[in-house]
Amino acid sequence: MTLSVRNIAKSFGGFRALDDVSLEMPADGLLGIIGPNGAGKSTLFSVMSGFMTADAGGVSLHGRPLDRLGAAARARAGMVRTFQVPREFHHLTVRENLMAAAPGQIGENLLGVFLSPRRVSAEEAAIRAEAEATMDFLRLSPVADTPAGRLSGGQKKLLELGRALMAKPRLILLDEPFAGVNPVLIGQIMDRVAALNARGIGFLVIEHDLDALSRLVPRLVVMDRGRVLATGAPDAVLADPAVREAYLGG
Ligand code: ADP
Ligand code: MG
Repeated sequence: MTLSVRNIAKSFGGFRALDDVSLEMPADGLLGIIGPNGAGKSTLFSVMSGFMTADAGGVSLHGRPLDRLGAAARARAGMVRTFQVPREFHHLTVRENLMAAAPGQIGENLLGVFLSPRRVSAEEAAIRAEAEATMDFLRLSPVADTPAGRLSGGQKKLLELGRALMAKPRLILLDEPFAGVNPVLIGQIMDRVAALNARGIGFLVIEHDLDALSRLVPRLVVMDRGRVLATGAPDAVLADPAVREAYLGG
């Protein structure tokens, strides 16, 4: 089962943010994406997850084209993303943030609440239980009742991962999960990602922390100015002169 990204192009005005980008990975694998600021990494995630439409090219999961689906439908198909800048609801607690991220929202259909209150409360109980399990897994239970706006940078990244997990995805796109996170929490996030991957959940990880990323993923894609520059094992890719020049400044 494969995630396949074929020949994606995306321009903003006259500027080519993505230029013929292709990549493939096993849907339950771990793939890292690196590249200088402005290389197009976050834009690639936006196109893949349906937050932006591509000008050309396509994305498929298990051979099923996703291009006509919006972000919510792609999440239901099994692929969700996190954001470089976490998008938690500051005033809601950690528990409430997780519950709000569950698909098939309680109260989404208010009529249902009046017609079938018992069904709604069963759904709420299931979502609440899922949120508790997610907090437990991510070691967020001690801050369950804390407003998300008061979390540390690393805890916000964990919450962002938790919000993605509430959709029960097959594949998660993580945008800079270690940025602004202290080393202890980086270790904790890596450990949780590895545990989820062992359960069969695939990850695409954009990250600037090359040390951490190289320990986590067996394969890297290097992007530069909207294009894929190199693909391969971290050691081989980082020794590539073209990569050193583009990414490390020679
Ligand atoms: P990266 O994540 O690799 O740092 P981005 O994908 O965020 O890069 O951005 C790639 C390029 O596209 C940058 O030059 C950025 O300014 C531009 N860009 C990204 N999003 C938009 C947008 N919504 N409108 C205009 N330009 C954008
Ligand atoms: Mg980015």
